[in-house]
Amino acid sequence: MKVVAATQNKHKIEEIHAITAPFGFEIVSRSDAGVPDFEIDEDGGTFEENSLKKAMEIHKVCGLPTIADDSGLMVDFLDGAPGVHSARFAGEDGNDAKNNEKLLKLLADVPPEKRQGKFVSVITMVFSTDDILVARGECSGHILYSAVGDNGFGYDPLFVPTGYEESFGQLSKEVKNSISHRAKALQALSEQLKLRK
Ligand code: IMP
Repeated sequence: MKVVAATQNKHKIEEIHAITAPFGFEIVSRSDAGVPDFEIDEDGGTFEENSLKKAMEIHKVCGLPTIADDSGLMVDFLDGAPGVHSARFAGEDGNDAKNNEKLLKLLADVPPEKRQGKFVSVITMVFSTDDILVARGECSGHILYSAVGDNGFGYDPLFVPTGYEESFGQLSKEVKNSISHRAKALQALSEQLKLRK
């Protein structure tokens, strides 16, 4: 099944592609589906709202099945921040390095036992405007005191998933893609897809 990825984030597309290949999805980029380049305002207060908005807007333009991920990191000590603001935590001109720096500063004096958090991913798949699947995945862990590892993207070098000693920045793609929030959301989505058959 050809599915258009609503996201422009290359890392996310790679992960979605790697995880959905066994389900028979052929993930196509927005540009390959002929969708003009436009910005989608992620102004929702929840991952669910933003994920639906992204998938729906792209579906309306191309008419093909569309898949969107809205995701982020929720830190307990920060009452769930950065949450839906994860991508722009350090401001509109920010980037992964600045986001990580801000997070480390906010947690500088926080002891190890209070550094828990979780990654959340909400995947929305739109077949048509009234045929929509939504799946959520979470991956819990803790936040380090400094960045470790070059793999992945975003907050990966700061996040150690529960049950592991290394950060997502150190763990291989294969390991991350088997335990991540996105992997769990896509697995939940695949269960829903099986029920449709
Ligand atoms: P979105 O593209 O609006 O969903 O923003 C997602 C943001 O959350 C990214 O820019 C990252 O900062 C963060 N994020 C989401 N998933 C991951 C992940 O798997 N690893 C590291 N950071 C992530």
